Amino acid sequence: MSQFKALLVSAEGEAFVSRVVERDTAELPAGDVLIRVQYSSLNYKDALSASGNRGVTRNYPHTPGIDAAGVVAESAVGEFAVGDEVIVTGYDLGMNTSGGYGQYIRVPASWVIKRPAGLSLRESMLLGTAGLTAALCIDKLEQAGLTPAAGQVLVTGATGGVGSIAVALLTRLGYSVAASTGKAEQGEFLRQLGAQQIVPRSDLQDGADKAMLKERWGGAVDTVGGDILFNVVKSLRYGASVACCGLTAGIGFKASVMPFILRGVNLLGVDSVELPLVVKASMWDKLSVQWKLGNLDSLAEEVTLEQLPKAIEQILAGKLVGRVLVNLG
Ligand code: NDP
Repeated sequence: MSQFKALLVSAEGEAFVSRVVERDTAELPAGDVLIRVQYSSLNYKDALSASGNRGVTRNYPHTPGIDAAGVVAESAVGEFAVGDEVIVTGYDLGMNTSGGYGQYIRVPASWVIKRPAGLSLRESMLLGTAGLTAALCIDKLEQAGLTPAAGQVLVTGATGGVGSIAVALLTRLGYSVAASTGKAEQGEFLRQLGAQQIVPRSDLQDGADKAMLKERWGGAVDTVGGDILFNVVKSLRYGASVACCGLTAGIGFKASVMPFILRGVNLLGVDSVELPLVVKASMWDKLSVQWKLGNLDSLAEEVTLEQLPKAIEQILAGKLVGRVLVNLG
């Protein structure tokens, strides 16, 4: 048994309150591998968990954190030895299993990936679930035929975690990127990541009543959902695809079959959570070598557990820019 520091979210009446507390590894769920967490990160889903969203986390008190990178402290399985550096993202981590906002997690071995040689633990969490998801979106688009010759690729919610990494990765892979944002003042940030065109979010909000829009995009990574997503579908070029991964603009949209049957476009769903571990591992390998980003620090802010609640408020308000790395010390 050992004591460790963790962010604990408790239900107090109608409110959900986050505090940094001492916990004990004996309180962690049963599992194959005990990991001393060094870094975690902030994703939108963590903010939902920290603010009492019962679709993400059913029971409180709870320690969120869907991402964790650290060192194996105890292992009941042959694949992992004490001292191995490992990454865990998704599955139930941080949802109903005590997550990466604690200095220790205990999880099934089937959730754990060895750190790829080309990424440090810190770099892996600068990317985190956001980076993994951005990579999965681009991989799926390429599997559907996207190449730089297809034309400009749109990224919505571009200043967010998934969006900013998608802009940087697409640029790294030779695509011309149009970045859509609601934050007019962040044009320079997006240009530094490689965006060649900035598209105001409002440009994508009109047209929900139209069956089709002018062909514009050779492909798209959509992190926001809602009517914006379907407006993007309606403005894809003939045969192009959009990868859909997020819901910050809403979970529903008004749709018709027209773009699909007139332009042969594709709407591709992306999930980073329940994806088989072998696929996650292959994507981490890609992110560590062929798709490695050199500018990760430029898109992240580093916080301690004590500073995390403020960042959680910002991400919930849609005000965060780039990524938040959580250093657990
Ligand atoms: P962030 O909050 O970092 O980014 C979301 C971005 O969406 C914001 O920065 C903002 O960008 C834009 N946005 C915010 N509010 C609105 C709004 N009302 N209407 C339109 N755009 C809005 O979140 P993440 O990058 O962590 O996650 C993005 C989305 O992807 C979330 O919905 C998350 O749940 C989902 N996700 C899904 C995964 C999967 O496996 N499918 C994995 C990871 C995330 P801007 O101001 O630049 O427009």
